[in-house]
Amino acid sequence: MSEPRLHSWSTVLMGSPIVLSLFTDDRDLAARVFRLIQRYEDALTVNRAVSQVMAVNHAAGLHPVKVSGAVYDLIRCAKAASMVNDSAFNLAIGPLVKLWRIGFQGSRVPGREEIAERLPLTRPAEVILNDHERSVFLARAGMEIDLGAIAKGYIADRVRDFLRQQGVEQALINLGGNVLALGSPQGAWSVGVKKPFAAADGLVGVVDVANKSVVTSGIYERWFEQDGKRWHHILDPRTGYPLDNDIESVTIVSDDSLDGDVWTTLIYGFGVEKGCAVLRQREDIDAIFITKNREVILSSQRQFRFTLLDDSYRISGCTA
Ligand code: AMP
Ligand code: MG
Repeated sequence: MSEPRLHSWSTVLMGSPIVLSLFTDDRDLAARVFRLIQRYEDALTVNRAVSQVMAVNHAAGLHPVKVSGAVYDLIRCAKAASMVNDSAFNLAIGPLVKLWRIGFQGSRVPGREEIAERLPLTRPAEVILNDHERSVFLARAGMEIDLGAIAKGYIADRVRDFLRQQGVEQALINLGGNVLALGSPQGAWSVGVKKPFAAADGLVGVVDVANKSVVTSGIYERWFEQDGKRWHHILDPRTGYPLDNDIESVTIVSDDSLDGDVWTTLIYGFGVEKGCAVLRQREDIDAIFITKNREVILSSQRQFRFTLLDDSYRISGCTA
């Protein structure tokens, strides 16, 4: 019997290449998936003047804004992740993201005073939620929510739910760094882990997964160079500067892509040692760290199998 053929469709949304792969040649279904992604992007984006999140931002310091159930739930979850002790994730990071403009035209290293002025506008506790009204109020003028770190994860989960509703059991959804593997053709899907700062198709290795999300966040994704230094797009909410540690990328394997997206940022902030310690308590979350000195560190391999493809890297596990 011949193997079923994989059909793929691609587009660009959320500033990223999007690819959907199915075992049926269903162009209509692919178009519906892309429309669904577009709808969520329209609600969540902060890169245009109008969206539900921008309505909240425009009303900062003025009044609460009612949002849809989906947007409210995501903001609620983002606030909770921001309030975790020592969290590097911060949903109110917007003023700093807009200041640095990393990945957009006009990026530059801001002055220390400019950063110091914006830090007080990034307090997650000042994102005031009202469950009853489903409204969001930013307590200070100039505050801005930015869901750029988790919007793709949330949307990937919604695409998975939609495909399941449509009776699709096997599919691969790639939202530019957020991969959701539905089902398990021939046992598993293979998802590449990119080699930081290499050519687009350069891989350090592959993870084999079934029914899992694989999310990678890396400092090689968006950055610019100034004063002989690379400045990347994952900011440390404590300092206002890009997070600075040994890690070049973190890949999280989990059930939900939203978890993967939150955890890549959390783990980035923790660094390898604390990240490993924290993950020991979380059986549902696995991480693959790639470090600047060419190590691949696996938290465990409970939910995936990793195969190294580039032997200039060394593999090890999290040590106790
Ligand atoms: P990702 O590519 O998923 O790691 O998300 C990076 C994006 O998240 C950035 O382009 C910013 O829009 C936003 N961001 C940057 N730093 C943080 C942070 N510390 N917490 C939450 N979002 C952030
Ligand atoms: Mg993310």
